Amino acid sequence: MNFDLTLEQDQLRDAVRALGRKYGHGYFVAKAKAGEHTTELWHEAGRLGYLGVNIPTEYGGGGGGITELAIVCEELAAAGCPLLLLVVSPAIAATVINKHGTDEQRKRHLPGLADGSQKIVFAITEPEAGSNFHRLGTVARRDGDDWLLSGRKCYISGVDEAGHVLVVARTEDAATGKLKPALFIVPTDARGLERSKLDMEIVSPENQFLLYLDDVRVPADALVGESLDAGLPALFSGLNPERITVAAMGAGTGRYAIERASEYTATRKVWGGRSIGSHQGVAHPLAHAAVQVELARLMIHKAATLYDAGRDLEAGISGNMAKYAAGEAAALAVDTAVQALGGAGMTTEYGVATLLGAVRAGRIAPVSREMILNFVAQHVLGQDKSY
Ligand SMILES: Cc1cc2nc3c(=O)[nH]c(=O)nc-3n(C[C@H](O)[C@H](O)[C@H](O)COP(=O)(O)OP(=O)(O)OC[C@H]3O[C@@H](n4cnc5c(N)ncnc54)[C@H](O)[C@@H]3O)c2cc1C
Repeated sequence: MNFDLTLEQDQLRDAVRALGRKYGHGYFVAKAKAGEHTTELWHEAGRLGYLGVNIPTEYGGGGGGITELAIVCEELAAAGCPLLLLVVSPAIAATVINKHGTDEQRKRHLPGLADGSQKIVFAITEPEAGSNFHRLGTVARRDGDDWLLSGRKCYISGVDEAGHVLVVARTEDAATGKLKPALFIVPTDARGLERSKLDMEIVSPENQFLLYLDDVRVPADALVGESLDAGLPALFSGLNPERITVAAMGAGTGRYAIERASEYTATRKVWGGRSIGSHQGVAHPLAHAAVQVELARLMIHKAATLYDAGRDLEAGISGNMAKYAAGEAAALAVDTAVQALGGAGMTTEYGVATLLGAVRAGRIAPVSREMILNFVAQHVLGQDKSY
């Protein structure tokens, strides 16, 4: 058992931390409040090679794995810049295209994903289906060599920043019964694809959208993979990277909040000469949150290691557990930090309450805590499926 990062991974962690601190949470919040994107940070991270760490070198990436991408996600979040699109574009889209796309799709999309000049977002959630992906209603039907896509998607992150959206649909002849998904790489400016921005109570420069697909015509080579059989494995291949990187983002956010609060409580004095942090009623909740975050980090490390070793089934269990643990730990850490900061905790200046919405959403998306508990109950504890 090895808990040490390699020298390269350590160096990556230090370098990403430095980049994150150069921008910081103030930058992240200012962009969010101005309705702008973190374009400068994204492009600089791309130029430095951090967005493509998990993409093969032949496509301009770093040739690493999800361990490296999780480091990037965690360290940017730990600097107060939790970038959800890291989870969507390099973690999900790049993995799906790299593992299951055609040669042509890899050549066309991976270099842009690696240097950050291109973003591909991911659309699976639908208003009617929700957590039950088997009910997906977005349908793809053949029209000559082309495909026509129709349906609705909701909560789709980053559509306004992306050149393409990876749409999960079902084919017409598989409209009922067990889901046989097909994935399509659809330009965000395709005719018939409309979007409307959702008002979310999350302070974030990244937005969520409703998508309406009305006979969106895409060519045959928009289908991910050589045939429809690629759909299910392609969809599943995105899940572990998504869970592991979103967990890393949660752990980084938890670290950030605890650090902000600890700095404050170590110096704030309202009872004579002693800091408020010397009172266990203040320090213990922070220490407890720090323990939860560290436990989540351990599980993230395990899940990423298993995934990069090609042990997908075990990585699935650890990745789900890591996502659950990090989601809970991040929410606890931010809430505890707000409390320890007192009134300052609710100010924009101290930069902690600004994360309340994001960490709350982290217990729901991309997979809810309840669906993970269902998964663990069924696949680890051998219980009958409850739904
Ligand atoms: C900030 C944010 C960003 C997002 N980005 C994207 C994106 O980029 N792409 C995308 O495709 N989706 C995205 N989503 C959607 C997200 O993945 C879904 O919100 C999530 O999967 C839950 O689906 P739902 O909202 O329809 O909840 P529902 O399925 O309606 O569930 C509502 C509640 O019931 C619980 N529940 C449902 N079924 C069961 C059951 N069988 N047992 C126990 N409890 C159950 C759920 O856990 C949840 O708490 C995003 C969501 C958010 C909040």
